[in-house]
Amino acid sequence: MIYIHVPFCHRKCTYCAFFSKVESGKWKVESYVDALIEEIRLRCHEQNHPIRTIYFGGGTPSILPLGELERIVKALHECFDLSQVEEVTLEANPEDLTVGYLQGLSDLGFVDRLSIGIQSLDDAMLRLIGRRHTANQALAAVENAHALGFSNLSVDFIYGLPETFQFSAFNFQLVSHVSAYALTVEPGTALAVQVEQGRVVLPDEEEVIQQYHALRQQLLKAGFRQYEVSNYARPGFESKHNSRYWDRTPYLGLGPGAHSFSLFDGGSTSVAHVEKRRWNKPDGTFEQEILTEADAYNELLMTALRTTRGLALAQVPKKYKERLHCGMQPYVDLDWIVLKDNCFVPTPEGLLHADGMAAALFV
Ligand code: SF4
Repeated sequence: MIYIHVPFCHRKCTYCAFFSKVESGKWKVESYVDALIEEIRLRCHEQNHPIRTIYFGGGTPSILPLGELERIVKALHECFDLSQVEEVTLEANPEDLTVGYLQGLSDLGFVDRLSIGIQSLDDAMLRLIGRRHTANQALAAVENAHALGFSNLSVDFIYGLPETFQFSAFNFQLVSHVSAYALTVEPGTALAVQVEQGRVVLPDEEEVIQQYHALRQQLLKAGFRQYEVSNYARPGFESKHNSRYWDRTPYLGLGPGAHSFSLFDGGSTSVAHVEKRRWNKPDGTFEQEILTEADAYNELLMTALRTTRGLALAQVPKKYKERLHCGMQPYVDLDWIVLKDNCFVPTPEGLLHADGMAAALFV
């Protein structure tokens, strides 16, 4: 699988701690695409597994003019065997998804899944968190994408905002996947400063949990199935790309700051190798992290306990099994975890505590 990081945004959202630059001038984007194509050519040999998914993430990939996207697609076709690709996702912001852009994407015939960052259907909230679009623009983007034949549509929402969370204006029939994230106040963001200065008051933890449950119920009622703490899909529409991250499938990350993940030691999952490239360095340097068996196990805990599939005992190295059973008992008693078919499966309540449980179980 391939991840392509597009590092540009029109403007920085107040809560965002992702790596992105607010500069999308024509020459900047063209230089980025030139460098990305060079990186594709240089590193294509590193991908020695069949490519099944491609994901354009950001930043804001929908900033890319169609002509630039076409250049990237051409380079991918030239350098990789894409005959087994099952899913190509592009993250998009509603304000970029004009009918013309959507038509161009459709004509390109490469992207078959759009992940649209709606975040809220309340214009005051959208302004508060620094989004550029309005609720109406978001609704129009989804409707237009659907009308132009994009049948695999995902939308992102944020809960934990100071609003009464409601979706009455949204037609869930048009989408196959929903990602719903709790707003987190990341240090160093504009939101962190606003909260510290009392200019923004966010709901307390109890209210955020209520919003999570209310949202979850609405989505289940609308025919979605929760498969990860923040992700819901209609049957068969789970994100193939993200599901493979959680299964620890190797991937090639391209673009500035993108991570790659590869396995060695004969493909054993117990020893992994993560490399983080410092992109565009003339000497081609990158940071590399070798994961020990303990690191790999801790990562497994972090990812598996966020999914509704849970942690299969078969995935756990023998030497950690007894410790895991003891460590899980308090969570079983709290009804956050159930042991089912040799898997530790988080309950809906347990999913909310997945990160804390995993951290407490680390070796
Ligand atoms: S559009 Fe996305 S990546 Fe860009 S600033 Fe906003 S949240 Fe961050």
